[in-house]
Formats: sequence, structure tokens, C-alpha cells
Amino acid sequence: MVIAFDIGGTKIAAARVGADMTASEIGRVPTPIRDYDAFCAAIADLAGPGDEPIGISIAGVVDPRDGRLTVANIPCADGRPLAGDLEARLGRRVRVLNDAKAFALAEATTGLGKGHASVFAVIVGTGVGGAFVLNGRLVMGATGSAGEWGHGPAAATRTGAALPIVRCGCGQPGCVDTLGGARGLERLHRHLSDIEADSPAILAAWQQGEPDAVRTLDVYLDVVGGALANTVNILDPDIVPIGGGLARNPALIAAIDAEVRARTLGRRATALCVPTEAGPEKGLVGAALHVSETAPS
Ligand SMILES: [Zn+2]
Repeated sequence: MVIAFDIGGTKIAAARVGADMTASEIGRVPTPIRDYDAFCAAIADLAGPGDEPIGISIAGVVDPRDGRLTVANIPCADGRPLAGDLEARLGRRVRVLNDAKAFALAEATTGLGKGHASVFAVIVGTGVGGAFVLNGRLVMGATGSAGEWGHGPAAATRTGAALPIVRCGCGQPGCVDTLGGARGLERLHRHLSDIEADSPAILAAWQQGEPDAVRTLDVYLDVVGGALANTVNILDPDIVPIGGGLARNPALIAAIDAEVRARTLGRRATALCVPTEAGPEKGLVGAALHVSETAPS
């Protein structure tokens, strides 16, 4: 039994996770984003007394060299060695994991990746993210950013479209992340057609064959499919489960899959990119798996 947390910029959710990886919720509270002591106290309160290990999935990157977080939407925790600080405070083992990595570990172990040696799990939500699991183990990378396919230059080489170049949250101009998620799809539609619409409306118009939306989705698939094809060529995964808000549209994921398979070196006769659920439950299970697999022997 471990205590698992899923922490985002608006709420902290906690659950007990048993050996069978079923999560039973303990509670949830708003995230204190300005006061680090209150943030740690909220986690301690939800964990309660006891000595079960604590696994945390958080919307930030954890540097494997010193455990320090880079987390834009929880400013008080940015730059902090959260696992070490909680261990000192609570006297129990704590492991903190990036939320895309937690999703990937859960998906590879108990989801669509189960039984596959090589799983590249992708998030297409507000922005984009991803993580790689090989033979059941997360690939962390030297700096903790392995699998972050959204942070490199966006290109539209098939359609030749002129893309808007916007500075990304990571500091670089024109990242795939600025066009690949729901906000990016909306930005691209505004740029190409001068129409202000939210992502569900754009996708509905695309599925009805509306010409402006068809053009936007063609460019979107060029950008996202091209970037994913690059990553697939490097990792050559068995399966690419895709979760996040946009993955709730199966036609979009099928179109991404067709684009990626047409643009990768390796030939595949069956679907590579498949839609899945990336809700808080996956974060909790991934965090629980991580703290379990890093247990001292
Ligand atoms: Zn970026």
C-alpha cells in the first residue's frame, strides 16, 4: 500500500493505491500555489499518520540530479527539492514524478502498453507532452526531460504553411507545444482563417467538412504528425497511447495515426497511435508504481 498524489495548479488529489493498483480516494484540496509551507502541509495532512511510502505525480519536470522541480503553475514549489523536503518533514519515503511520466508508466504497466516492450506515451491536452517506457522502466534522461517531444521547432513541411511563431513556456520560439495542444489548435485556426473558436468547435467543423477547419486540421496534422514521426523514428516504439483532452476525439487520433505512419521510416500495418484516458487516476497509479519500483531492496 502506498499513498499517491496527483498535483496540478488547481488541486491536490490523494488516494491509497494497493498492490493491485486500484486507487481509493482519500481527498482533494485546492493547491496552495504561493506558500510552500502551506503546500507541503496540505500534502502532509492528506497523507495522514503512518509510514506508507508516498508517490507524487506533478505538472512539472523533476531534475534527477538534485530532485529540484521546474513547475510553472505552482510558483512556490518551483526550484524546490520537494521529495527531499517532504521526507525530512514526514520521515517517510517520498518520490516525485512528472505527470506525463506517471501517465506513461501507468499506461505501459496497466493500460494499452501492457505486454509491449517499448511504449511512447503522449499527452495532447492544453499543450503536449510525452514519456518513454522501455521494458517496464521509465527512461528519465540526464535532466529529466526525456520524451518531451513538444519542445523543438514546429515545421509544416508537407503543407508548406507559414506558421505563427510564438514564444513557448520553455523560453524557445516556435515550439511544437505552442501549436500541438488545444490552445495551439485554436491559435493555428485564428492564424490561418482569422476565426476565433474553441477546439471542440474547430474539430466539429472539421468533421462536417467546413473548408476553413479542414485547412487548419491539415496544417495541424502536418505539424503534430511530423514532430511525432521524428520521435517515432528515434525510439521506434511498439505502441503510442495518446491521452489528454484532444484524445477524446477518436477521429483526430486516427488522423494523427495515419499522418505519423505515412511519415516514419518503419512500416506498420496496424495502428501505432491509439487513444486512451489520461485522467488523474493514471497519475495516481503511475506515482504509486514509481515509488514502489524505486523501493530500496
Ligand atoms: Zn518549448
